[in-house]
Amino acid sequence: MLMDGRELAKDIKAKIKAEIDDIKRIYNVNPTVASILVGDNQASQVYLNSQIKSYQDLGIGVQKYFFSEEISEAYLLNLIDKLNKDTEVDGIMVNLPLPPQINVTKVLNSIKLVKDVDGFKAENLGLLFQNNEGFTSPSTPAGIMALIEKYNIDLEGKDVVVVGSSNIVGKPIAALILNSRGTVTICNIYTKNLAEKTKNADILISAVGKPKLITEDMVKEGAVVIDVGINRVNGKLEGDVDFESVQKKASHITPVPGGVGALTVAMLLSNILKSFKANRGII
Ligand code: NAD
Repeated sequence: MLMDGRELAKDIKAKIKAEIDDIKRIYNVNPTVASILVGDNQASQVYLNSQIKSYQDLGIGVQKYFFSEEISEAYLLNLIDKLNKDTEVDGIMVNLPLPPQINVTKVLNSIKLVKDVDGFKAENLGLLFQNNEGFTSPSTPAGIMALIEKYNIDLEGKDVVVVGSSNIVGKPIAALILNSRGTVTICNIYTKNLAEKTKNADILISAVGKPKLITEDMVKEGAVVIDVGINRVNGKLEGDVDFESVQKKASHITPVPGGVGALTVAMLLSNILKSFKANRGII
Protein backbone atom coordinates (compact mmCIF):
# COMPACT_ATOMS: atom_id res chain seq x y z
CA MET A 1 0.00 0.00 0.00
CA LEU A 2 1.24 3.46 -0.91
CA MET A 3 1.47 5.86 2.06
CA ASP A 4 0.20 9.15 0.67
CA GLY A 5 1.86 12.15 2.32
CA ARG A 6 0.17 14.72 0.09
CA GLU A 7 -3.41 13.92 1.15
CA LEU A 8 -2.45 13.85 4.82
CA ALA A 9 -0.55 17.16 4.50
CA LYS A 10 -3.63 18.76 2.93
CA ASP A 11 -5.83 17.62 5.85
CA ILE A 12 -3.31 18.82 8.46
CA LYS A 13 -2.94 22.23 6.76
CA ALA A 14 -6.74 22.67 6.57
CA LYS A 15 -7.05 22.02 10.32
CA ILE A 16 -4.23 24.48 11.13
CA LYS A 17 -5.83 27.14 8.89
CA ALA A 18 -9.19 26.72 10.63
CA GLU A 19 -7.54 27.17 14.03
CA ILE A 20 -5.56 30.23 12.93
CA ASP A 21 -8.76 31.75 11.47
CA ASP A 22 -10.59 31.14 14.76
CA ILE A 23 -7.81 32.76 16.79
CA LYS A 24 -7.77 35.72 14.40
CA ARG A 25 -11.52 36.17 14.83
CA ILE A 26 -11.43 35.98 18.62
CA TYR A 27 -8.15 37.70 19.50
CA ASN A 28 -7.46 39.75 16.35
CA VAL A 29 -3.86 38.50 16.11
CA ASN A 30 -2.12 36.35 13.54
CA PRO A 31 1.11 34.35 13.74
CA THR A 32 4.41 35.78 12.53
CA VAL A 33 7.52 33.79 11.80
CA ALA A 34 11.05 35.13 11.23
CA SER A 35 12.78 33.20 8.47
CA ILE A 36 16.57 33.34 8.27
CA LEU A 37 18.51 32.20 5.22
CA VAL A 38 22.26 32.57 4.71
CA GLY A 39 23.77 32.04 1.26
CA ASP A 40 22.15 30.57 -1.83
CA ASN A 41 22.01 26.82 -1.21
CA GLN A 42 19.58 25.46 -3.81
CA ALA A 43 17.88 22.86 -1.59
CA SER A 44 17.31 25.50 1.12
CA GLN A 45 15.76 27.84 -1.45
CA VAL A 46 13.34 25.13 -2.60
CA TYR A 47 12.30 24.34 0.99
CA LEU A 48 12.02 28.05 1.79
CA ASN A 49 9.79 28.72 -1.23
CA SER A 50 7.37 26.00 -0.16
CA GLN A 51 7.37 27.39 3.41
CA ILE A 52 6.55 30.90 2.14
CA LYS A 53 3.75 29.62 -0.12
CA SER A 54 2.20 27.83 2.88
CA TYR A 55 2.57 30.90 5.11
CA GLN A 56 0.60 32.87 2.52
CA ASP A 57 -2.09 30.16 2.20
CA LEU A 58 -2.58 30.04 5.98
CA GLY A 59 -2.31 33.75 6.78
CA ILE A 60 0.99 33.47 8.64
CA GLY A 61 3.10 36.64 8.47
CA VAL A 62 6.76 36.25 7.57
CA GLN A 63 9.74 38.49 8.29
CA LYS A 64 12.50 37.62 5.85
CA TYR A 65 16.14 37.88 6.91
CA PHE A 66 18.18 36.76 3.91
CA PHE A 67 21.93 37.26 3.99
CA SER A 68 24.97 36.61 1.81
CA GLU A 69 27.49 33.87 2.76
CA GLU A 70 29.84 36.35 4.48
CA ILE A 71 27.61 37.25 7.43
CA SER A 72 29.28 36.78 10.83
CA GLU A 73 28.14 34.51 13.66
CA ALA A 74 27.99 37.51 16.01
CA TYR A 75 25.61 39.35 13.68
CA LEU A 76 23.31 36.33 13.47
CA LEU A 77 23.34 35.78 17.25
CA ASN A 78 22.51 39.45 17.80
CA LEU A 79 19.59 39.23 15.36
CA ILE A 80 18.22 36.11 17.08
CA ASP A 81 18.52 37.86 20.45
CA LYS A 82 16.36 40.72 19.12
CA LEU A 83 13.83 38.30 17.62
CA ASN A 84 13.68 36.36 20.91
CA LYS A 85 12.68 39.58 22.68
CA ASP A 86 10.19 40.74 20.01
CA THR A 87 6.73 39.75 21.29
CA GLU A 88 5.29 40.04 17.76
CA VAL A 89 7.57 37.24 16.51
CA ASP A 90 6.16 33.80 17.35
CA GLY A 91 8.68 31.54 15.69
CA ILE A 92 12.29 31.69 14.45
CA MET A 93 13.21 29.48 11.52
CA VAL A 94 16.91 29.19 10.67
CA ASN A 95 17.18 27.50 7.28
CA LEU A 96 20.13 25.09 7.14
CA PRO A 97 22.91 24.73 6.15
CA LEU A 98 24.82 27.73 7.49
CA PRO A 99 28.28 28.64 6.14
CA PRO A 100 31.37 27.21 7.90
CA GLN A 101 32.30 30.38 9.84
CA ILE A 102 29.04 30.02 11.80
CA ASN A 103 28.63 27.48 14.59
CA VAL A 104 25.25 25.91 13.76
CA THR A 105 24.74 24.38 17.21
CA LYS A 106 25.42 27.71 18.91
CA VAL A 107 22.94 29.48 16.62
CA LEU A 108 20.19 26.87 17.04
CA ASN A 109 20.66 26.78 20.81
CA SER A 110 20.33 30.59 21.00
CA ILE A 111 16.68 30.47 19.90
CA LYS A 112 14.19 30.93 22.75
CA LEU A 113 12.51 27.58 23.52
CA VAL A 114 8.98 28.79 22.81
CA LYS A 115 10.06 30.14 19.38
CA ASP A 116 12.04 27.04 18.31
CA VAL A 117 9.64 25.98 15.53
CA ASP A 118 12.22 23.59 14.04
CA GLY A 119 12.71 21.75 17.33
CA PHE A 120 16.50 21.54 16.85
CA LYS A 121 17.52 23.35 20.03
CA ALA A 122 19.35 21.08 22.50
CA GLU A 123 16.69 21.72 25.15
CA ASN A 124 13.94 20.60 22.76
CA LEU A 125 15.82 17.45 21.75
CA GLY A 126 16.45 16.73 25.45
CA LEU A 127 12.75 17.07 26.23
CA LEU A 128 11.99 14.74 23.32
CA PHE A 129 14.39 12.10 24.68
CA GLN A 130 12.74 12.46 28.10
CA ASN A 131 9.35 11.99 26.42
CA ASN A 132 8.34 15.20 28.13
CA GLU A 133 5.12 16.61 26.68
CA GLY A 134 6.63 20.08 26.34
CA PHE A 135 8.87 19.31 23.37
CA THR A 136 8.50 20.52 19.79
CA SER A 137 9.29 17.68 17.42
CA PRO A 138 11.52 18.39 14.42
CA SER A 139 9.22 18.54 11.37
CA THR A 140 10.41 15.60 9.27
CA PRO A 141 10.32 13.06 12.13
CA ALA A 142 6.90 14.47 13.12
CA GLY A 143 5.75 13.87 9.53
CA ILE A 144 6.93 10.25 9.70
CA MET A 145 4.97 9.76 12.95
CA ALA A 146 1.87 11.35 11.38
CA LEU A 147 2.06 8.87 8.48
CA ILE A 148 2.55 5.92 10.86
CA GLU A 149 -0.52 7.02 12.80
CA LYS A 150 -2.63 7.68 9.70
CA TYR A 151 -1.99 4.13 8.42
CA ASN A 152 -2.70 2.61 11.86
CA ILE A 153 0.74 1.08 12.23
CA ASP A 154 1.22 0.00 15.84
CA LEU A 155 4.81 0.47 17.00
CA GLU A 156 4.61 -1.42 20.29
CA GLY A 157 7.13 -4.26 20.29
CA LYS A 158 8.00 -3.75 16.62
CA ASP A 159 11.57 -3.95 15.35
CA VAL A 160 12.30 -0.60 13.75
CA VAL A 161 15.53 0.05 11.88
CA VAL A 162 16.51 3.66 11.19
CA VAL A 163 19.25 4.10 8.58
CA GLY A 164 20.92 7.51 9.08
CA SER A 165 21.65 9.13 12.43
CA SER A 166 21.56 12.90 11.85
CA ASN A 167 20.33 15.33 14.49
CA ILE A 168 17.51 16.48 12.22
CA VAL A 169 16.05 13.11 11.15
CA GLY A 170 17.69 9.87 12.33
CA LYS A 171 18.17 10.59 16.06
CA PRO A 172 14.84 12.36 16.70
CA ILE A 173 12.77 9.76 14.79
CA ALA A 174 14.51 7.01 16.80
CA ALA A 175 13.52 8.78 20.04
CA LEU A 176 9.92 9.27 18.90
CA ILE A 177 9.68 5.56 18.07
CA LEU A 178 11.20 4.54 21.41
CA ASN A 179 8.61 6.78 23.10
CA SER A 180 5.93 4.86 21.16
CA ARG A 181 7.25 1.52 22.48
CA GLY A 182 9.15 0.38 19.40
CA THR A 183 12.52 -1.40 19.54
CA VAL A 184 14.98 0.72 17.60
CA THR A 185 18.26 0.00 15.82
CA ILE A 186 20.02 3.10 14.46
CA CYS A 187 22.50 2.60 11.61
CA ASN A 188 25.02 4.96 10.05
CA ILE A 189 27.82 4.94 7.49
CA TYR A 190 29.98 2.87 9.88
CA THR A 191 27.43 0.07 10.32
CA LYS A 192 28.88 -3.31 9.42
CA ASN A 193 26.64 -5.38 7.16
CA LEU A 194 23.69 -3.02 6.85
CA ALA A 195 21.51 -5.63 5.13
CA GLU A 196 21.74 -7.93 8.16
CA LYS A 197 20.15 -5.15 10.24
CA THR A 198 17.55 -3.96 7.73
CA LYS A 199 16.31 -7.50 7.03
CA ASN A 200 15.09 -7.71 10.65
CA ALA A 201 12.98 -4.57 10.35
CA ASP A 202 9.21 -4.68 10.71
CA ILE A 203 9.49 -0.98 9.93
CA LEU A 204 12.44 0.34 7.94
CA ILE A 205 13.17 4.06 7.79
CA SER A 206 15.92 5.34 5.50
CA ALA A 207 17.24 8.90 5.91
CA VAL A 208 20.62 8.89 4.18
CA GLY A 209 20.63 10.63 0.79
CA LYS A 210 21.91 7.78 -1.41
CA PRO A 211 19.74 6.58 -4.31
CA LYS A 212 19.03 2.82 -4.39
CA LEU A 213 20.81 2.24 -1.06
CA ILE A 214 17.92 0.02 0.06
CA THR A 215 17.35 -2.86 -2.32
CA GLU A 216 14.78 -5.65 -2.31
CA ASP A 217 17.12 -8.22 -0.73
CA MET A 218 17.55 -5.91 2.30
CA VAL A 219 13.84 -5.81 3.12
CA LYS A 220 11.73 -8.31 5.06
CA GLU A 221 8.52 -9.55 3.36
CA GLY A 222 5.59 -7.40 4.55
CA ALA A 223 7.75 -4.64 6.09
CA VAL A 224 6.67 -1.00 6.27
CA VAL A 225 9.24 1.04 4.31
CA ILE A 226 9.55 4.77 4.91
CA ASP A 227 11.85 6.66 2.58
CA VAL A 228 13.06 10.05 3.81
CA GLY A 229 15.89 10.43 1.29
CA ILE A 230 15.75 13.11 -1.38
CA ASN A 231 18.15 12.65 -4.27
CA ARG A 232 18.19 14.35 -7.65
CA VAL A 233 18.94 11.73 -10.28
CA ASN A 234 18.98 12.83 -13.94
CA GLY A 235 16.78 15.80 -13.06
CA LYS A 236 14.21 13.67 -11.20
CA LEU A 237 13.65 13.23 -7.45
CA GLU A 238 14.32 9.81 -5.97
CA GLY A 239 14.54 8.47 -2.45
CA ASP A 240 17.05 6.06 -0.89
CA VAL A 241 14.88 3.04 -1.65
CA ASP A 242 14.82 1.13 -4.93
CA PHE A 243 11.08 1.74 -5.12
CA GLU A 244 10.17 -0.51 -8.09
CA SER A 245 11.55 -3.72 -6.57
CA VAL A 246 10.95 -2.97 -2.87
CA GLN A 247 7.27 -2.07 -3.32
CA LYS A 248 6.55 -5.70 -4.29
CA LYS A 249 7.78 -6.87 -0.90
CA ALA A 250 6.58 -4.08 1.41
CA SER A 251 3.14 -3.99 3.02
CA HIS A 252 3.36 -0.17 3.06
CA ILE A 253 5.78 2.16 1.30
CA THR A 254 6.19 5.93 0.91
CA PRO A 255 6.77 7.37 -2.56
CA VAL A 256 9.38 10.06 -3.29
CA PRO A 257 8.12 12.67 -3.97
CA GLY A 258 4.71 12.65 -2.28
CA GLY A 259 5.59 10.76 0.90
CA VAL A 260 7.47 12.08 3.93
CA GLY A 261 8.66 15.22 2.10
CA ALA A 262 5.10 16.39 1.54
CA LEU A 263 4.54 16.40 5.30
CA THR A 264 7.59 18.34 6.46
CA VAL A 265 6.12 21.80 5.79
CA ALA A 266 2.73 20.76 7.25
CA MET A 267 4.43 19.73 10.50
CA LEU A 268 6.45 22.97 10.56
CA LEU A 269 3.16 24.88 10.28
CA SER A 270 1.79 22.85 13.16
CA ASN A 271 4.86 23.79 15.23
CA ILE A 272 4.35 27.47 14.32
CA LEU A 273 0.73 27.30 15.51
CA LYS A 274 1.90 25.74 18.78
CA SER A 275 4.56 28.46 19.29
CA PHE A 276 2.05 31.19 18.36
CA LYS A 277 -0.41 30.02 21.02
CA ALA A 278 2.30 29.63 23.67
CA ASN A 279 3.90 33.01 22.85
CA ARG A 280 0.57 34.85 22.97
CA GLY A 281 -0.82 32.95 25.97
CA ILE A 282 -3.70 31.46 23.94
CA ILE A 283 -5.04 28.16 25.28
P1 NAD B 1 23.00 13.76 6.86
O1 NAD B 1 23.94 13.82 5.71
O2 NAD B 1 23.08 14.75 7.97
O3 NAD B 1 23.04 12.31 7.49
C1 NAD B 1 23.12 11.15 6.71
C2 NAD B 1 23.24 9.96 7.60
O4 NAD B 1 23.32 8.80 6.77
C3 NAD B 1 24.48 9.93 8.48
O5 NAD B 1 24.12 9.48 9.79
C4 NAD B 1 25.41 8.91 7.81
O6 NAD B 1 26.26 8.24 8.73
C5 NAD B 1 24.40 7.98 7.21
N1 NAD B 1 24.90 7.24 6.04
C6 NAD B 1 25.58 7.74 4.98
N2 NAD B 1 25.88 6.74 4.11
C7 NAD B 1 25.40 5.61 4.65
C8 NAD B 1 25.41 4.24 4.25
N3 NAD B 1 25.99 3.86 3.10
N4 NAD B 1 24.83 3.34 5.05
C9 NAD B 1 24.25 3.70 6.21
N5 NAD B 1 24.19 4.98 6.65
C10 NAD B 1 24.77 5.92 5.87
O7 NAD B 1 21.55 13.80 6.16
P2 NAD B 1 20.11 14.28 6.71
O8 NAD B 1 20.09 15.75 6.79
O9 NAD B 1 19.67 13.46 7.86
O10 NAD B 1 19.24 13.87 5.42
C11 NAD B 1 19.19 12.53 4.97
C12 NAD B 1 18.37 12.45 3.69
O11 NAD B 1 17.04 12.86 4.00
C13 NAD B 1 18.84 13.39 2.59
O12 NAD B 1 18.57 12.79 1.33
C14 NAD B 1 17.96 14.61 2.76
O13 NAD B 1 17.78 15.32 1.54
C15 NAD B 1 16.67 13.96 3.18
N6 NAD B 1 15.79 14.81 3.97
C16 NAD B 1 14.50 14.81 3.62
C17 NAD B 1 13.61 15.57 4.32
C18 NAD B 1 12.18 15.53 3.92
O14 NAD B 1 11.43 16.44 4.22
N7 NAD B 1 11.73 14.46 3.29
C19 NAD B 1 14.03 16.37 5.39
C20 NAD B 1 15.37 16.31 5.77
C21 NAD B 1 16.25 15.53 5.05
